[in-house]
Amino acid sequence: MTFKELHLIAPILDALETEGYTQPTPVQEQSIPIILQKKDLLGCAQTGTGKTAAFALPILQLLSEPPIDNSHKVIKTLILTPTRELAIQIGDSFAAYGKHLRLKHLVIFGGVPQGAQVRALHAGVDILIATPGRLLDLMDQKYISLSNIKIFVLDEADRMLDMGFIHDVKKTVARLPQKRQSLFFSATMPPEIQKLANTILVNPEKVEVTPVSSTAEKIDQYILYVDKKDKKKLLAFILKDKSIDRALVFTRTKHGADKVVKDLYKDGVRAEAIHGNKSQNARQRALSNFKTGEIKVLVATDIAARGIDIDSLSHVINFDLPEVPETYVHRIGRTGRAGADGIAFSFCDEEEKDDLKAIQKLIGKQIPVVENHPFPASSSGVVKINLPKNKEVVKRPNAIQNNTPKKKHFKHNGNNKPKQDRW
Ligand code: AMP
Repeated sequence: MTFKELHLIAPILDALETEGYTQPTPVQEQSIPIILQKKDLLGCAQTGTGKTAAFALPILQLLSEPPIDNSHKVIKTLILTPTRELAIQIGDSFAAYGKHLRLKHLVIFGGVPQGAQVRALHAGVDILIATPGRLLDLMDQKYISLSNIKIFVLDEADRMLDMGFIHDVKKTVARLPQKRQSLFFSATMPPEIQKLANTILVNPEKVEVTPVSSTAEKIDQYILYVDKKDKKKLLAFILKDKSIDRALVFTRTKHGADKVVKDLYKDGVRAEAIHGNKSQNARQRALSNFKTGEIKVLVATDIAARGIDIDSLSHVINFDLPEVPETYVHRIGRTGRAGADGIAFSFCDEEEKDDLKAIQKLIGKQIPVVENHPFPASSSGVVKINLPKNKEVVKRPNAIQNNTPKKKHFKHNGNNKPKQDRW
């Protein structure tokens, strides 16, 4: 399937060629025809599947169809997204895909003065990309009217719920025209989200991609058994490997993320943390340093990482294993995106063996174990070896022993950790 076969117009096809996209991803292949037919859509897809283009491309096309009223630009499409980072990324996508069209888009979010946003609104906008709080604020001040909205997109609905924006979303929806096309995207569909979708959509077509239990085929996954106290040394050891271009390291807690960054600095590895306790500016700065390659390691909690869109992420490292197995799939899905190869390393200490068991059950396979790393777990019986500094442990097939962990690795240790949300 090609983009041309999806009946996209030439200016969009040209922009896609510039972007280097050769073929649509599954969510694009399924969603674009539905949206072009002006139908409502319920999309179950996470970040990394190409879902932004799945809605941005047909929206650009629908808004380009005659009659186009360029003399009087009014907001015809609203895209509601939970975070500033996501809003900026969506804005960048509209800019890239719509570069040959004469449509104007604007991104608005809180935490910054409103002056520039208000001026841009006065100048005329076709597509508004907004976070809920600032949108309602500017609507209350009468700078924004939703009365001409033809297409409404709710992005990352489950995350909206997570972040406590559900009432703001409902308030916004109540102010939309009844007659409209609605597109609803969520990575997961718990009952509360399904209920919300039912109140927004009319006879929607459903699109579901990459069920959460199937880990991307192109990602090489490895487990490294290690004692908790040695995790930081193992991480520094791995990150000093020259073959790692850009690594995203996951910790369970915000405090843990800060600690990892500090410890890496001591070991001479520059890294920055991104999590909910950081200001938006600090998060944005860390992200852009990471994108430009100024720092090659970003340490994140799960919630913070969900908004990160990086094309060339070579490695994901689970410093801590997640307690919710589905989270593992989301995490490692951050590498190997849009056809690229990726490597995911997961550290597993004694207390995390049950978590690993649950992950392997979910993905339906045993993850290969790296045995010959310099900090083997004391329970593993492996004799500790001292490798020369910077010795490569990654991407070298003979360094990876595809051993199924022996049964004793999975013995229940009687240490049932409380399953609580620590973010
Ligand atoms: P998203 O799921 O929208 O966050 O997109 C994930 C990444 O995939 C983005 O960085 C896009 O630039 C990229 N992408 C989206 N569609 C395609 C495609 N058809 N071919 C190659 N890359 C794509």
